[in-house]
Amino acid sequence: MELLKQKIREHGIVVSDTVLKVDSFLNHQLDPELILEIGKEIANRFKNDGVTKVLTIEASGIAVALAAAMELKVPVVFAKKNKPSTLQGQIYSALVHSFTKNEDVTISVSANYLKPSDRVLIIDDFLAMGAASKGLVEIVRQSKARLVGIGIVIEKGFQSGGQELRNQGIRVESLVTVKSLASGQIEFC
Ligand code: 5GP
Repeated sequence: MELLKQKIREHGIVVSDTVLKVDSFLNHQLDPELILEIGKEIANRFKNDGVTKVLTIEASGIAVALAAAMELKVPVVFAKKNKPSTLQGQIYSALVHSFTKNEDVTISVSANYLKPSDRVLIIDDFLAMGAASKGLVEIVRQSKARLVGIGIVIEKGFQSGGQELRNQGIRVESLVTVKSLASGQIEFC
């Protein structure tokens, strides 16, 4: 997605050889027009797959997931971190290691919002080692819903998550893939 590459080139900050900061348009401040375009692009790639629900993880995935879900005309469910007391009844949960925070969190979804009849599209902002996506895949598995695929805004191709998920036969669509962040330079695939 050329518009997104351009935005990353102009506003992305290379924090280290493995971390890209995009706080000015995706992870802290949000660029609404760009987010809507990202949502449209992801929705377009899965428009013929009978998606009934978009699943993401709080907080950074929500804006993009909402934009895609509006196009697909389906609800968004976001997994909550560190099970709040308001989350009651049957829940699905998975342990996720956060790449950026270097900590483990349990993510949870109420069984009310994922049914075996659902066809689920997982969406997240970044794909690095794949822990967040794998946690969401595990939640879909527990719900016995059908996983349609995973839509990612920025995949870091030099980290193993994308390959591992694809090796499991999961369809992963990334709008841009970063090949390298070495020497402070952003290189796309
Ligand atoms: P993974 O679970 O695939 O290792 O990492 C994905 C999650 O970690 C995403 O939900 C995202 O919030 C965060 N993340 C991973 N790499 C980066 C990065 O380079 N920059 C930012 N801003 N977030 C990242």
